[in-house]
Amino acid sequence: MDWLYLIGIMVLGFAGMEIISYCVHRWLFHGILWKVHESHHKPTHGLFELNDIFSLIFAGISIWMMVNGATSMFEQPYFGLGAGVAIYGVLYFIIHDLFAHKRFMPFSSDSKIMKLIRRAHQRHHQDVGKEGHEPYGLFLFPYDKYPEHKRKFDR
Ligand SMILES: [Zn+2]
Ligand SMILES: [Zn+2]
Repeated sequence: MDWLYLIGIMVLGFAGMEIISYCVHRWLFHGILWKVHESHHKPTHGLFELNDIFSLIFAGISIWMMVNGATSMFEQPYFGLGAGVAIYGVLYFIIHDLFAHKRFMPFSSDSKIMKLIRRAHQRHHQDVGKEGHEPYGLFLFPYDKYPEHKRKFDR
C-alpha cells in the first residue's frame, strides 16, 4: 500500500504541475513577469535565456521537497509531490526545450503525439507579444485543434 500511496502522490504532483504551469504561464509570465518570459518568445542568441530562471526555481522547489520529505515518503506527501514535479520538469525539458525548440541536444521524433505537442506549442509561439495565445500548457490542450497541415509556425 505504501508504494501505491507514493505513486498516487507523484501522479498528483505531475498533474498539478501542468495545471500550475498553465496558470503561471498564462497569468504571470504573460502578465507581470513578461519582461523575463519575453526572452523565450524572442529568437535566442546564446545558449541560455533569462526565462530559464523559472525552470531553475521549479527544479529548486522540487529538489527541496524531495530532500526534506525523503525520510517520510510513505507518510507525508512532500517527497512524492516533489518527485512528480521533477518528472514533469524532466519531461518538459526533453519535449519543450530539446524537441520543440531544438536547444542544447536537439532531436527529432516521428511520434505522432510528440509532433502534435510541438505543433500546439508552436501555435503559442506564433504570437510574440505579451498578450499571448493558447495553448499555455504543454500537455493539456484540445488535441484535435492542431492538425498536421498547420505546421508552418516556427519557434
Ligand atoms: Zn509564453
Ligand atoms: Zn516554448
